[in-house]
Amino acid sequence: MRNKKQKDKQNDILSVLRYIVPTVILFIYILVIIINASSRAKEDGRAYAEEKLQSYDRSVAEMLTYDLIAIQNAVEADASRIGNSEDDGKAMPLINRLVEENKVTEGYVIDGGGKATDVSGMESDVSGREWYALAKEGTSGGGSTVTDALLEGEDYMITIAAPSSDGKSLAVVRLSTDFFRNIPSIAEFDGKTQFLFLQPDGTVLSAVGGKGLFKGGNIFDGTLLFTGIDSLASLKKSISGDHNGTVYCTVLGEEKALIYRYVKYNGWKVCELATESYIDSVIADYFAPTKGVFIKITVALIIFLAFIVMMNIVIRMLYKKDQKKLKSKAETDLLTGVLNKISTEQTIQDYLDMVGEEEPGMFMLFDIDNFKKINDTRGHAFGDEVLAAVGKELPTIYRTTDIVGRLGGDEFCVFLKDIPNENARIHMGEVTYNFFRDFKVGEYSKYDVTASIGAAMFPKDGKDFEELYRSADKAVYAAKEHGRNRLVFFGEEVKDGKVNNEGSGT
Ligand code: GH3
Ligand code: MG
Repeated sequence: MRNKKQKDKQNDILSVLRYIVPTVILFIYILVIIINASSRAKEDGRAYAEEKLQSYDRSVAEMLTYDLIAIQNAVEADASRIGNSEDDGKAMPLINRLVEENKVTEGYVIDGGGKATDVSGMESDVSGREWYALAKEGTSGGGSTVTDALLEGEDYMITIAAPSSDGKSLAVVRLSTDFFRNIPSIAEFDGKTQFLFLQPDGTVLSAVGGKGLFKGGNIFDGTLLFTGIDSLASLKKSISGDHNGTVYCTVLGEEKALIYRYVKYNGWKVCELATESYIDSVIADYFAPTKGVFIKITVALIIFLAFIVMMNIVIRMLYKKDQKKLKSKAETDLLTGVLNKISTEQTIQDYLDMVGEEEPGMFMLFDIDNFKKINDTRGHAFGDEVLAAVGKELPTIYRTTDIVGRLGGDEFCVFLKDIPNENARIHMGEVTYNFFRDFKVGEYSKYDVTASIGAAMFPKDGKDFEELYRSADKAVYAAKEHGRNRLVFFGEEVKDGKVNNEGSGT
């Protein structure tokens, strides 16, 4: 019985697993797809964030280039007027306006000897100045020039110069690299990004926003930026050429993305440094609509899985109920309602296997007396009625845990569990005998039904069903021999009493 239960349990688990395992695998598979898609979306989000910063950088670089070109054009235009007698009185109208509007710091006309006259007419000698040398060198080919930035005091100064039409003098303006500070509008980035104007050698010509980066510092000397050796090298390479790109680095212990874009002059670069948290917020914005979808799909999957599990449990319960019904139908003797022959034997044997020989029990076999005569005199249908009545009423005198069955024809049996002593044995013998003593069938004319009963004790008279049956059958035979309507214990001498236990009985 225990084995059967264990087997049933195993079957239960197996049949549940049959549905659950594929569903769980499907569930995991879909989750993996979602996680994959979500990590891909994150990559897309990062690319989107970089693209957004790149495009902002591009416009800063374009504005800066545009401004430099505009100044250069103004200087060229004024240079072409110098030496032209008609325009002598207002030789530098455009440069004058640039100075007035603070777009440049200084404006000069410089003759071939280095004598500079500024916009207010003040004269000075600039022949020994480095910037003048650069301007001369830059214009030696006959065209205008925008020089490298030179450190002067606190500022890096750029000189823009153009030769006059007669080639005898130069129109010159000088401006601080800090003019770049007016270009990036950092409002949009809420202080989360910094802008840099860089020399190709990594020198910071001007910086806007944030901390850690300052004018005059160098992003390659390891003091401002820290990046892995590879990325620092690739950053250096990129900064020194006409490249645009993004490098991830650390500034004062904070992860940042450095986006760089070249300006068309002197290898200068415009850079933007964005914190990882800013990039994350851009990614989150980008990701927000899809995130909702992923959450919905995940919730739907969980509900689906729970539904499958619940359905499975309900189906199992219904199936079990059905099985139970079918099983009891298959085990029951239809006419009498007690266990049929096969399941009586099986149930008793399973029980004996389970308890072993430690728990004494009592097996009784009943054979109705002269049943043929009942059939013959009152008809077969009445015979059936008698059998049905035995099946209905006999179990009521025992405990529900005792096993009552019909072994065939007019033969019934019962196995009484837990008969610990002589008293219990005698008591149950008497209860059984008394049942048949008082047993009558028939609605109008009552028929006294008696039985010959053989009793065998477990494990004394038999250790399994087969042996118990044989012993009890012998006792039934003895009861028949001694005139029927009596209970005989196997191995005991049949005495006068109807229950032959130690002389007691009726
Ligand atoms: P004894 O006192 O020696 O037991 O005599 P008996 O007439 O009862 O003889 P026995 O037990 O050998 O015969 C049982 C009879 O029960 C034989 C058969 O005709 C009858 N029988 C078997 N199954 C059924 C059944 O399902 N319904 C009816 N009505 N009779 C049955
Ligand atoms: Mg009989």
